[in-house]
Amino acid sequence: MNARDAFRKEYGTEPSGLWAAPGRVNLIGEHTDYNDGFVLPFALPQRTVAAVGPAPAGEWTVCSTFQDEAISFGHTEPGEVTGWAAYVAGVVWALRDAGHDVPGARIAVDSDVPLGSGLSSSAALESSVLTALIDLGGLDVPLERRPAIAQRAENVYVGAPTGILDQSASIRCREGHALFLDCRSYEVEQIPFDLAAEGLAILVVNSNAPHQHVDGEYGARRKSCEEAARLLGVPALRDVTGAELDDALARLDDEVMRRRVRHIVTEDDRVLETVRLLKAGQVREIGPLLTASHASMRDDFEITVPQVDLAVETALAEGAYGARMTGGGFGGCVLTLLDADKADLVTAAVEQAYAEAGFTAPTAWTVTAGPGATKL
Ligand code: ADP
Ligand code: MG
Repeated sequence: MNARDAFRKEYGTEPSGLWAAPGRVNLIGEHTDYNDGFVLPFALPQRTVAAVGPAPAGEWTVCSTFQDEAISFGHTEPGEVTGWAAYVAGVVWALRDAGHDVPGARIAVDSDVPLGSGLSSSAALESSVLTALIDLGGLDVPLERRPAIAQRAENVYVGAPTGILDQSASIRCREGHALFLDCRSYEVEQIPFDLAAEGLAILVVNSNAPHQHVDGEYGARRKSCEEAARLLGVPALRDVTGAELDDALARLDDEVMRRRVRHIVTEDDRVLETVRLLKAGQVREIGPLLTASHASMRDDFEITVPQVDLAVETALAEGAYGARMTGGGFGGCVLTLLDADKADLVTAAVEQAYAEAGFTAPTAWTVTAGPGATKL
């Protein structure tokens, strides 16, 4: 059932409008966001649609095609609404906390972003609802301020310590472009990313290994990075350049921490190099950077799992230009850059490799860079 039909069924009336916000894949720049560094996501054609209509002031109800029951809430504080509806209650709370008079609303959501696969269905949900409430209430919230509000919903209300990447991508991406985002200044640059013109494609392989963000591993990586920055006397690891890396590593005693730092510093450099190559029209040449990013996540940041490693290795063996896990890690998706006509071959090879390894079958599809959050 689509969002409009779900709205009709639940509320017995027509919505005022439909708002959509996409999931994303991060082309490169993993775990750099909370280190004030650089990321380069693009929006997926898959998106969450929110059908929204008015309700009395101070009253919100939300239902989802993924859930049986509608959830109603009034003015709440973080923690009061739990479960999936917390993402929506969190958006209402974060908007109000930023001083906005959020209109009461009835909301029905539907999504074709796979939930919990590292493609950011959470940010798609937050961003679709946020955009809808801003439009419905005529609220004055400039585009560049919106990601931080959605992020607060997830960080403070839901209690998931994510960086600014997901919400920025869902809200600020443009069709046919990757979004080069400086996670310190929130400055963005739209980088042309038209694969079809080059005969190329990005194949996304969902490992279907469970992806969990709200758990200790993410928090532990984050803490390690923050502690390293403190020991090095810099505001964030972004402030260590590639040229300063060896020096910085020599000043850290802890072997694990050294590896975490090496991932972040080299990953920031890879993002900058990827942007340079894309701007120069050298799209194939970003392949080795993607693969190096994966090796760094596997060996230094230690956030990959056997399923994603196998997908990367198999894609490369079949002639992909590059491949890497995308998203926070511990499962989720792999993206591979390849000639468009090789997508089926690589998909079949990964399926076979998974079967031989006894893994749950993967799901794979090619993607293009879609638009960011918008009213339909
Ligand atoms: P990801 O963002 O990678 O998909 P997360 O764990 O961050 O994974 O977010 C997934 C969670 O977001 C789901 O478990 C659910 O609570 C919520 N969610 C996302 N989209 C929807 C939706 N359309 N309907 C209901 N809940 C959703
Ligand atoms: Mg998420």
